[in-house]
Amino acid sequence: MLQTAQDAIEDAAVALGFSNDKIKSFLQPKHVLKRNVTLSNGETYKAYRVQHNDDRGPFKGGIRFHPEVDLNEVQALATLMSIKTAVADIPMGGGKGGIEVDPRTLTDAQLEELSRAFVRAFADRLGPKVDVPAPDVNTNAQIIDWMVDEYEQLTGDKSKASFTGKSIQNGGSEGREAATGYGGYMVFEKLLPGLDLPADMTFAIQGFGNVGSFFAQKVMELQPTWKCVAVSDSSATLENMDGLNIESVLAFKKAKGRFSEYQEGKVNIRDARDIIATKADVLVLAALDGVVNSETVHLLNTRTILELANGPVSSSADAYLESHNIIVIPDVLANAGGVIVSYLEWEQNLLGEHWSEEHVNSELYRIITEAAQSVDEYKNTHNITLKQAAFQLALKRLVT
Ligand code: NAD
Repeated sequence: MLQTAQDAIEDAAVALGFSNDKIKSFLQPKHVLKRNVTLSNGETYKAYRVQHNDDRGPFKGGIRFHPEVDLNEVQALATLMSIKTAVADIPMGGGKGGIEVDPRTLTDAQLEELSRAFVRAFADRLGPKVDVPAPDVNTNAQIIDWMVDEYEQLTGDKSKASFTGKSIQNGGSEGREAATGYGGYMVFEKLLPGLDLPADMTFAIQGFGNVGSFFAQKVMELQPTWKCVAVSDSSATLENMDGLNIESVLAFKKAKGRFSEYQEGKVNIRDARDIIATKADVLVLAALDGVVNSETVHLLNTRTILELANGPVSSSADAYLESHNIIVIPDVLANAGGVIVSYLEWEQNLLGEHWSEEHVNSELYRIITEAAQSVDEYKNTHNITLKQAAFQLALKRLVT
C-alpha cells in the first residue's frame, strides 16, 4: 500500500512537471514526533505522531494501537491523509499516529491509562487549530473520549474539537459510523454516467464490515434493479448469480455470523479469496490492502473497481487494468466520506452545535459529490485515469 501511494504521488508529480526538490519537500513531513508513554506498572511503549502537512488546515488523521506500528508506515499514511483531505477539498491537512502496543494484552484500566498518557506526551503539539486526531485500527469512541477528557484537563479547552470520532454524548457527530460506506455510494452514483454500466448491473463486495455493509444498505435502499451476486468476509464468499438477499445477509452479519456458516436461500459458499474472480459489473473492495496485485489481477472478471478499503489495488496491477479498460475509482476519493464527516464533527464542535443526521448526510453529499465531479472533469480534460486525476488534483492544491 505504501509503495502504491508513493508511486501514485511520484507519477502525479512527473505529470505536473514538478522538480525533484519540490516533490521531495512535499513528501517530507512537517514534524515527526516520537515519545515514550509509560504505565503506572512501569511498562513503556513507543508512541508516534507524524504531522505531514497543515497548509490547508490542521493536521488530521487517526491514532492506531498495534504491535506492528512502524514509523515509516505511519509517515506514509500521514502523507495519504494530506492527499485525501485535498481531494475532498476540506480545510484540513494530513497526520497519523500510533502506539506500538498489543491492546489485547491490556486491561480496560490500562487502556485508559495509555490513552491519557498519549495525550500528555503530545499535548503541546495537538489542539483544535493544530492537529485533530481520530480513531483508527484498534482505537474507538471510548478511547477518544478519554483522550478528549485528558486534553480538556490539561489545557482547559472545552470545545471538544481537539479530537474527532467521539461518542455522540461527548460531542461526536451523527452519521459518522455510516459515512465511509454511504460516501462510497455517493461517489459511485455521481460517476455512473461515465461508467457505461447497465441499469440492472451486478456487483460483488469483498469485506462486509462497517464500510461494506453500509455501502450495501444504501444500494438496497436506492437501487432496486442492481443485483448483488457475491459478498465475502474473512471466512468465505457467498455467491448467487441470481442475486443474494441483501437484507438477510445484513441481518446475519449484524448478529455477528461468519459467512462460512450462512445457510439461508440458494447460496454457494466458496473460499474467501474467490470473490476477486466473481463475474460482476462492479467489484467493491472493502476489506484489505493489496488484494489486487500483479499476481491476482488476471483473475478479475469485472469492468469497474470501487476502492473502499485503503490501497486494495496495488500499483503493480495498474498496467493490466489500463490495458483491459478496467476502471478503478480510487480510495482517496471513494472512501473520503469518513474524514469528511470527521471534519463536520470538528466544525460542529467549534460552532457549539449538534446537527441532525439528515443535515450531516446532506453536507457529506455536497462535499463528496463536488470532489467526485472535480476529479471526473480533470480526468476527462487530461484523458487520464480517475486515480491519476485524483492525485494530480490533490498535488496541485497542496504544492505551490
Ligand atoms: P471492519 O473491520 O468493520 O470490516 C472489515 C471486513 O473485512 C470484515 O467483514 C472482515 O471479515 C473482512 N475481511 C477481513 N479479511 C478478509 C478477507 N481475506 N477476505 C474478505 N473479507 C475479509 O473494517 P471497516 O471499518 O469496514 O474498514 C474496511 C477497510 O476500509 C479498511 O481497509 C479500512 O482501513 C478502510 N477504511 C475504513 C474507514 C472507516 O470509516 N471505517 C475509512 C476509510 C477507510
